[in-house]
Amino acid sequence: MGIPDLDIGLTDEQKSMRDMVRKFGAQVVRPAGIELDKFHDPADVVAEGSVLWDVYREFRQLGLHRSTIPKAAGGMMEDLDPLSTVLIAEEMGYADAGLAIGFGVDSIPFVLAALSPDPEVQGWARDYCEDTEAKFIGCWAITEPDHGSDWLLAGTEETRHPKIIPNVRAVLKGEEYIINGQKSAWVSNGTIATHASLHVSLDLKKGMEGTGLAAIRLDLPGISRGKPLDKIGQRPLNQGEIFFDDVRMPKSWMVIPDPAVLESLSGMNLARVNGGMGMVFAGLARAAFDEALKYSRERIQGGKPIFEHQNIKLKLFEMFSMVESTRALNRRTALYNAVNFPPSVPHAVACKVLATECAFKVASKAIQIFGGNGLSREYPVEKMFRDARASMIEDGVNETLSLAAMELL
Ligand SMILES: Cc1cc2nc3c(=O)[nH]c(=O)nc-3n(C[C@H](O)[C@H](O)[C@H](O)COP(=O)(O)OP(=O)(O)OC[C@H]3O[C@@H](n4cnc5c(N)ncnc54)[C@H](O)[C@@H]3O)c2cc1C
Repeated sequence: MGIPDLDIGLTDEQKSMRDMVRKFGAQVVRPAGIELDKFHDPADVVAEGSVLWDVYREFRQLGLHRSTIPKAAGGMMEDLDPLSTVLIAEEMGYADAGLAIGFGVDSIPFVLAALSPDPEVQGWARDYCEDTEAKFIGCWAITEPDHGSDWLLAGTEETRHPKIIPNVRAVLKGEEYIINGQKSAWVSNGTIATHASLHVSLDLKKGMEGTGLAAIRLDLPGISRGKPLDKIGQRPLNQGEIFFDDVRMPKSWMVIPDPAVLESLSGMNLARVNGGMGMVFAGLARAAFDEALKYSRERIQGGKPIFEHQNIKLKLFEMFSMVESTRALNRRTALYNAVNFPPSVPHAVACKVLATECAFKVASKAIQIFGGNGLSREYPVEKMFRDARASMIEDGVNETLSLAAMELL
């Protein structure tokens, strides 16, 4: 017995989608994540012949990369109901949170490209949807060496000061933007991406508010990359810097050149990203609970399975309650935000903060239940703990996001 499924009334389509993703997660993503996590050098994660590429290819072949792209651009966004979106993201997080995040950011520039009036840029979304070989990989390039939380608090009084200016700046000259600056080593898929959704400063006088958003190909002259980042958790997730040195980008690739329009869309973006983080890390929390429950029934101490000891049972029940309340808020928020404009950003942020704190606490309790084995790389929970630790900073430090959400309540 594990956690009973409370998703009553699932259609056959929803069930078969969930089961297909669960099988892909168990057979392909989880084992690949364990293998990639053990590489000493993060460059090996993305080297030719790495299992990472098999995982990306299979993700493409299942068509899962098309789930956030509109049908008009070759995707299947309208075919996926909000609950199916939750089921897919949660199963991917259950399998491997770092790889799940890689899949999540992968489509971001192509979603943006699909919105462009420029047929060339729109064509990138179609090429991406048709890609079964993982030839095209996307990233979301927002964080900079000097500006992390500043980007997430861009709409607040504090960051409206002209002295707080993004590192990456784009200056319009005729029919081209000239781009200079650097995005930080935290950009997920940063060293392997072919395309980026790139946040830039357009108007220095407006600080963090004078920004635009480009869909950009990363093979333009003047673009270079850093080394893959070495870090404590989510090691299968590639990350690295992107440098821009007098890069000449066609004007039409700046999909959102008006800072006011970008600001009006920022709530939608925050709701989507935070909602997705909530789903992935609820999946990780559920995985850590399942591992602890299984182990507690197998490990004998005091002449009986440790499950029979009251302190272990109480711990497990607390973990179960945390996981289930996190999953419940994710589902409630996803259903609401799918049909309401504007979406509720505070609820989406609560999903992210609750799920990542839940994943961290549940993985930590799982280690306690495993005893010494919990600290060993032979068992899965120490990796889950490290992956969960990263999530409380990922896509916005939890405290920063909470402050941004409070501005809206
Ligand atoms: C696993 C992972 C994946 C990521 N993926 C991406 C990605 O795909 N693309 C991308 O661009 N970035 C990505 N990031 C970067 C991430 O979004 C940033 O790390 C995050 O926004 C925090 O920025 P920072 O690290 O510069 O911390 P800082 O902003 O320097 O914050 C440091 C501390 O100061 C506090 N603080 C900062 N400003 C304030 C304030 N105004 N008021 C009160 N407290 C404040 C914070 O809460 C925090 O505790 C990723 C990060 C991780 C860990």
